This record gives sequence, C-alpha cells and structure tokens, in this order.
Amino acid sequence: MEKTDATPTPTPTRSAPQADDAYHPDRVEAKWQARWADRRTNQPDLDRAERPFYNLMMFPYPSAEGLHVGNMFAFTGSDAYGRFKRLQGYDVFQPIGFDAFGIHSENYAIHVGVNPAELIPQNILNFRRQLRRIGGMFDWRHELSTTDPAYYRWTQWIFLQLLKAGKAYKKAAAVNWCPNCKTVLANEQVINGHCERCDTPVEQRTLEQWFFRITEYAGRLLADLDDRSKMDWSDSTTTAQRNWLGRSEGAEIEFPAAGAAITVFTTRPDTIFGATFMVLAPEHPLVDRLTTDDRRAAVAEYRRAAAAKDLVSRKVGDRDKTGVFTGGFARNPATGTMIPVWIADYVLMEYGTGAIMAVPGHDQRDFEFAGRYRLPIIRVVAEPDAPADAPLEAAYSDNERGRLVNSGKFDGMGVAGGKQAITRWLEESGAGKGVVQYRLHDWCISRQRYWGPPIPIIYCEDHGAVPVPEQDLPVVLPLIEDFRPDDTGVSPLARHQEWYYVPCPRCGKRSRRETDVSDTFLDSAWYYLRYPSTEFDDRPFDPARTRAWLPVATYIGGNEHAVLHLLYSRFIAMVLHDLGHLHFDEPFRKFRAHGLIVKDGAKMSKSRGNVVVPDEYIAKWGADTFRMYLMYLGPFQKGGDFRDEGISGPRRFLDKVWAMVGECVRGDMSGEITHEVLGKWHRTIRKVTQDVEGLEYNTAIAALMELVNKLREAHCYERRIVESLVLMLAPFAPHFAEECWERLGHARSVFDARWPAWDEALVVEDRVEVVVQVNGKTRSKVSVARDADEATVAAAALEDAAVRRLVGGKPIRKRIYVPNRLVNLVVG
Ligand SMILES: [Zn+2]
Ligand SMILES: [Zn+2]
Repeated sequence: MEKTDATPTPTPTRSAPQADDAYHPDRVEAKWQARWADRRTNQPDLDRAERPFYNLMMFPYPSAEGLHVGNMFAFTGSDAYGRFKRLQGYDVFQPIGFDAFGIHSENYAIHVGVNPAELIPQNILNFRRQLRRIGGMFDWRHELSTTDPAYYRWTQWIFLQLLKAGKAYKKAAAVNWCPNCKTVLANEQVINGHCERCDTPVEQRTLEQWFFRITEYAGRLLADLDDRSKMDWSDSTTTAQRNWLGRSEGAEIEFPAAGAAITVFTTRPDTIFGATFMVLAPEHPLVDRLTTDDRRAAVAEYRRAAAAKDLVSRKVGDRDKTGVFTGGFARNPATGTMIPVWIADYVLMEYGTGAIMAVPGHDQRDFEFAGRYRLPIIRVVAEPDAPADAPLEAAYSDNERGRLVNSGKFDGMGVAGGKQAITRWLEESGAGKGVVQYRLHDWCISRQRYWGPPIPIIYCEDHGAVPVPEQDLPVVLPLIEDFRPDDTGVSPLARHQEWYYVPCPRCGKRSRRETDVSDTFLDSAWYYLRYPSTEFDDRPFDPARTRAWLPVATYIGGNEHAVLHLLYSRFIAMVLHDLGHLHFDEPFRKFRAHGLIVKDGAKMSKSRGNVVVPDEYIAKWGADTFRMYLMYLGPFQKGGDFRDEGISGPRRFLDKVWAMVGECVRGDMSGEITHEVLGKWHRTIRKVTQDVEGLEYNTAIAALMELVNKLREAHCYERRIVESLVLMLAPFAPHFAEECWERLGHARSVFDARWPAWDEALVVEDRVEVVVQVNGKTRSKVSVARDADEATVAAAALEDAAVRRLVGGKPIRKRIYVPNRLVNLVVG
C-alpha cells in the first residue's frame, strides 16, 4: 500500500486515554463544520486547479417543508462520490443552489397567502442550514438561486440568444391548460391527460405562446445517446429519452383528391395496397373541398360536435370510434383505386398531418372502424403459415415474420424489405418519400404566471415583438400583491400598469411588455454553467472557467427528470455550442440516476404519517450515522427501505472504529498482522474502491464492517490499517473521519490525504495444496486456504470424487493432519 505523501509524518497528540473517550457526534460535527468554513476546506482554486472534477447534484426547489429524506439520500450519495474523488487527488468542485422559481413555490405561496418573494428566502435559509448540518462538501462561495436577478438576467439573455438564432418563435397554439393550476403545461407535464402536479384533467386552449425549436435537434439528441465518448449515462435514463424522442421511420405519401393531395405519414408504407379508405381530422383544411352536397349537412353536424369536445378526451383511446363520410374520394397511388374519405374525431390536426390512410387489415383501430361502417378490408401481409384468404377476425400486424400478399409486384417480400422497396417505388413515381419522424414537440416556454423570469420582449404597434436590448437586462420581476393567476389566461403581470407599459426600444412609442414568464425548466437548463462563474456580473459564464471545469464530470439526480430537465439542458447546451458560446455540446459526461427511499416498505406520504424528517434523526444520531445508514440501507441506484431499527447498526459500527482508533493511538499492538489479516485488508481496499466508484455504497460499507470485525478478532490495531480504514470511511462519515484523523496525529484535513491503494499480490487469497491420503496411500490433492483448520481440510478432501469413492459410506476411524501439507483419513 502506498503511503500518503500529502500528509505530514504523524505525531501522536494524545498519549493517554482521556476520561471521556466516547464518541459524541454532536461535538465532533459542530467542530468540523466550523473548521471546514474557517479553513476553506471545501473551496478549490477554480483558476489554478490541476485536476478539476465537477461533481454536480440536482439542485432542490426550496419547499417550506425543508429537505426531505429523499433529498438527503440523493445529496449524500453524490457528496460521498465527490469526497471519494477528492481523496483520489482531484480538485473537486461541488456547488449547490436553489431552483426557487416556478409553480411549486408559487402554489405554496398562494396556499399560505404569502408572497413568494417573502416566502422563498425563508425556505432557502432553512435549506442552507440543513445542507450544512448533513455535512455536504459544498463550495458555498458559489451558491446560486434562480430567483436572483443576477442569475435570471442570464436566463433572459439565453432566451435572446435563441431568439436571435431563430430557435425561439411565437405562435398561437392549442396548449395544455390546467384549470386548477391555471397555467399552460408542457406535453411532458401531462400524464395520461392529467396535470402532473395536481392530477386535474387537462383542457386545451388556444394561446399565443413562445416556443423553442427543440425538434430541430431531435436527431442529434438521439444520436448522442449512443456516443459513449460524450455520454456515460444510466441506461434507464437514456431509454426514457429515446422513448420520449420517439423516432419513427416511415413515408409521407400523397393521395390525389379533389384537385389537391391529402398527405399522410405512415410507419407502414408496406401496407399501402391495403389502404381502403382515408380518415381526416374534422378540422382538416381539405374537408370542405371534398365534401359533396348531399353529405354537407352530416359533415357540418359532426364537425360541430367534435369542436365541442375537448381535445384531451379525443386523444384518449379505447372508446367507440365515430366518423362520417364526406362523399369525396382519393386515389390510392399504389392501386389506382378511388377510396372513400371520412372524417373522425380520433384523428387530430396537432399530430402528424391530420390525415391517415386506413389499413383495416393491419391496424386494430382501422379494423374496428371498417367493421362499424362496412368498409372493405384487404389483407396485404399474410401470416407465414396461413392462406392469404384466411378469415379476417382481427387486424394482423406481425412485423417479424409476415410476407406481403395482394401487393402487386411486391408479393412475397418480407415486411422490412417491403417497406424499403415500396418507399423507393413511391419516391420514383413522385407519390411519396421516406421520412423520419419524432414524437418530440417544440418546447413551449411561456407561462401565464407570476413567479418566474419575465420573457424579455416588448410589443410595439409599429415594430411588433422587439427584444429587450441585452444591456437593459435583467427585466426585473416586480413585487406585486395580486400575484394570483386567474382564468383569463393572461399573466398577473399585465395588471401592474407601471411595469406593463414601456417605451419601444426602437422608436420610443408607448408599448407593452410581454407578461408571460418563462418555464422553470429554462432556469434549470443552464444552472450548471453558472456555478463556476457566480462572481462575474458581466457574463453568464466565464470562458476560461468554463473551459477548465466543464462539461460536468458526474451528475447525480432523480430519474423523474430524465425527459424534462435533462433533455432541455442538453438542447440548450447544443444551441449555445452552435452559437460559439460553449466548447462542448453535451453538458453531463456521466449521469447516474439514484433510487428512491420508502419507509417500512411503503411510499412516504403525509397522509400515511410515515414521512422521515431528517432533522429529528440527525439530532438523535448525528449526521454521520444518518449518512452511513442512508448509504447502507440499499443500493444507491435502486433505493431502499428506511426502518428506524436499522440505524443503530451503523452507529455501533462507528463506535467500534472510534475505539479502535483509541487503541491505535495508545500504541496497544497486542495483535500482529497475520497473512490472513493482510489479505483481508487488501481485498477490502480493492472492493471498497471499486464499489464506491460504481456507487455501490451499501456493499462498500458492508465490506468495511467485515474488515473491522476481522481486525477486532485478531486484536490488530496496526496504524497503517486503522488509517486506511478511516480514509475509506471518510466519504460516508466525513466529520467522524476528520476527528479520527486528527486523533491519529494528523494536522491537515483527512481530505488532503490520499485514498489507500491495494497490492494485487496480497489480494489473492493465499491457498495451499494439501495431499490427501486414504489409509496411508496418496489418492488426491485439494486446494485450501493457508492455515485452514483440520475439519475444513477434511471436509474438502471428502468433496473430492476419488476420495469419496474410496471412503464410500464407511466411518472415518482416525484423521491425521499435517497443517498445509497432508491429511490422512483412516477408514474401514
Ligand atoms: Zn394542475
Ligand atoms: Zn417601435
């Protein structure tokens, strides 16, 4: 093992045991928290660091309840990793801040009737106290809050950069509206037609909204997920992003109709010979043109009924599909057949082209629709073993094994080959083209709320939407009393006249400010860029600092942000990179999603009354014991079950180590380092190093517990072993480790020392070959651990097939054992 050279030679500070030698976490923790602050232990030199390591954790939104145990679990896991990297010799920058704008904070403020501008600073005070108490290695010089004008000035600046680059635009759009939260929701915030926050069914409204063109980046956002040189992320997270981006390959096909063309997108161009009718959204612009006089009344009535329905319930599947025939026909470009055109409310203008080709033989919804309205069904993909004219009881869509039938010259092809061949054929005849589509939509960043950064736009009668000049940023959010949203869909800021009316930046004419604020996810999409540069007021992020510290080395957070925050952050980084502001386009080199904590096997909730309040446990047990327990109760990336009875184990363990350090300091070397202890020690170093690197903290801690038991058994308090034990505990129990390190005679912080190394030669368990005799005759050899006892060796010998054959079921009358060399079994 390499001895740390960063630490001075130890000089014991205590020669005799003190009267009260017991471990008192409260004293130890208060002492080291004060010392870390005094000595700036957690403040790396950001301009001269040699081995920068940016360790990021998802910043919390400062709720009134304070940090919950789930936050503590996540932060402790991330903090343990940062401390481990520091012990490995990195200059670790570990900042923290507050995601303090947004609807969570605002709704709570409304609930308690206090302005969020007053409420949030109080919450932040409490959060800061808790984060210090848990012993996080935070560089408090770089704390930030998204609500600080010195921060959101640059959030607004980012909006302006996107606007300049043509990546921000405004349009009237049907948007998701939560009637309870009284705000627009992004598609990502609508779960099964309900508001993600309050579970209220979401309505549709048409509002003028600001959007970011994230869809332009869909292909890149997808491709990077497979690029390990840029991204080493949890599989669960990349899978969620892949699904969210929703790439599908297909074809856009034109069906000539009424002197125009109906364009459809399909992922199954191979089934075009089976397209026997078309369905348009009732709002489709070609409906009037296609409708024949005799169908006009029926069509008009259906459209009226559809318009009265909210779009959300139209999207929800599994209900009767209704529709009405327009009287018009379109020509199937593959068959040349004229097929009827229907309208139905399950087809939406917002999705795809607002029109579909219906293939009832191979799509269940089309099959049901065709059955109901007696439309023709043609099978064009046959099951491998079924005749082409098998009865049609349901749609059949086997992509793997089917082959094309009733498809002209494409008959007999497989589905995949058929897709390609038919797409090429459509392209040659000008009837269509192969296209790639994504499920992702542009990011709506407008919020008709109060608690966010105002979008920096001024509306002039002559000049339209004029960006606020960059030198006039920030557009400060005014403190207003009537901050509650109402049903008009207009932001509360519009009620604040002095703020609302401003001169146009171009002509000076009286104009109006944009009253929407931006989405909280824009605040958090770039906070990691700001941390290293918080002291600069004239730039969002300093180029030299950014080059030295970014992209982020390791980011740990919850998977609930897999498709919102993490996707938006990647998008903003790509845009800023393309505009020349950043040298990288993927912001987080490594991302790991942490697991979730339950209590006594059940989800924690206020109504169940089983919420773990961290402060109470820390007051009783100390932060280090609490941290140890959180990291020990289950795999960090899976989570675990918090049980009150479990916490005493880690505490007893720390007490044992505390006592061992005492023995070591007193120089009580009653034990000696046996071969066995030495091997165990080196194996433990290897296991703990590898487990902590892999965030497998629970098994690392278990290995340390085993080592301590072994050392106590052997009465081994050898300094180099005890010191390495303290170092390996430091990521989990940092105050405890500091105190032990000082007791062991070190003047500098344990985090200035180096993580122990193992010797590969000593890791191998020492084994010997023992000769096995039966009745004095050598019959075999067995491999056993050196110094194994007689019973173990005899048992190993009886496992040997040759020996067992000779011994049979006969009793062993006598055993002769020469340790590490020979065992003789006498039978008969
Ligand atoms: Zn809601
Ligand atoms: Zn103007």
